[in-house]
Amino acid sequence: MGKLFGLVGQPLGHSMSPIMHNTEFKELGLPHHYQPFELREDELEEGIKALRLLGVEGFNVTIPHKVSIIPMLDEVEQEAMEIGAVNTVYRRGDLLIGANTDGQGYLQSLLKLTGEDSLINKKVLVVGAGGAARAVAVSISRSGVGSLTIANRTLDKAEKLSSVCRPYATVDAISLEILNSSLESYDIVINTTSIGMSPEINNVPLPVQNVREGVVMSDLIYNPLETLWLKQGREQGAITSNGLSMFVEQGALAFEKWLGIKPDRSRMKETVLKKLGGQQC
Ligand code: NAP
Repeated sequence: MGKLFGLVGQPLGHSMSPIMHNTEFKELGLPHHYQPFELREDELEEGIKALRLLGVEGFNVTIPHKVSIIPMLDEVEQEAMEIGAVNTVYRRGDLLIGANTDGQGYLQSLLKLTGEDSLINKKVLVVGAGGAARAVAVSISRSGVGSLTIANRTLDKAEKLSSVCRPYATVDAISLEILNSSLESYDIVINTTSIGMSPEINNVPLPVQNVREGVVMSDLIYNPLETLWLKQGREQGAITSNGLSMFVEQGALAFEKWLGIKPDRSRMKETVLKKLGGQQC
């Protein structure tokens, strides 16, 4: 029987999740459907009640509801509680359970890129301390890392995030201004800020002059597919990666929670690339 899945957020017009999941259902011969549900903040509570009544099997949550949905759920997984945000909801009996697959999605895509099992010997820099940074920093810390530095324009937010991660790893917080002099010491530099995202494509979150050759530079942005920062890094000899793998992986992990089936990640990536390519033309 066909099951209902969905996405809750606002605005959703540019979201790649519906096409990614619906194409995968079709390819796997599953009669399910993934529907975007645009809800304003003041509509969220009633909207979630309606989804329960409709018998929704699971859904994703995006901006601006990732934090405010938490009290509306029956349970929230520990990692999502530590991240402080939910991006995936699944059903267990009559209960709606909140999870966060952004952090694990990022971690899995980063490990694939480095070809290693863990980050235990790596010195990692996360630039930014917003919602995406929280998911990335908490998941990296929980899985083990040599050391983690969080740099943010607003130092206070970086400090708060560091204290969440400190039970798991050696973590420090610095401001963006003092970062430039110490860049060459990192093995992996991750941009979690929105700087460089379309349409502001001519901005970079930090200069690349001081990164060393062979450093991994990872940008969570995937529109454009290569930000100016990644282009500059690639030209300096860095190993670069955009946020598309994270996006696909967080979706694939949600799919597994909902259905207990492994979707085809390469095909999901192709679907999104095709759609992004169409948009950019
Ligand atoms: P957010 O919560 O609004 O956080 C934005 C971050 O960017 C904050 O750290 C903010 O610093 C910093 N920032 C913004 N403008 C800045 C500027 N002009 N100078 C210095 N710092 C600036 O946003 P988010 O939800 O974390 O999303 C961040 C990015 O990640 C977006 O581009 C989003 O598309 C991407 N993302 C990708 C995926 C994926 O699957 N690939 C998933 C989630 C998010 P302050 O704290 O000082 O304001």
